[in-house]
Amino acid sequence: MTKIKCKFCGHEWETKSKYNLVSCPSCGNKNRNVNKDDESYIDMDKKTKIKFVYQKKVLKEKNVCGLAKGEVDSTIENLSKSKNIPIGEISVEFL
Ligand SMILES: [Zn+2]
Repeated sequence: MTKIKCKFCGHEWETKSKYNLVSCPSCGNKNRNVNKDDESYIDMDKKTKIKFVYQKKVLKEKNVCGLAKGEVDSTIENLSKSKNIPIGEISVEFL
């Protein structure tokens, strides 16, 4: 069982769901299933944007829709090369 707290209404519940997104039983909004890692989450959620961040500055935004596996890594590599930033210092955030 995974405990989930709704980011919209604050309701907390437990789920056995293996899906990447679960609906809040209280308000019905979709929440990320914290059970799942980021890569599979990228496959499932078509509306989410991710941003590539270095020292709190956004380097690039990408729509998750249609994003292929491995594309996050290659984007980080390209940004690292073109902007001369160590790969380990670029982080990825979900919007
Ligand atoms: Zn809710």
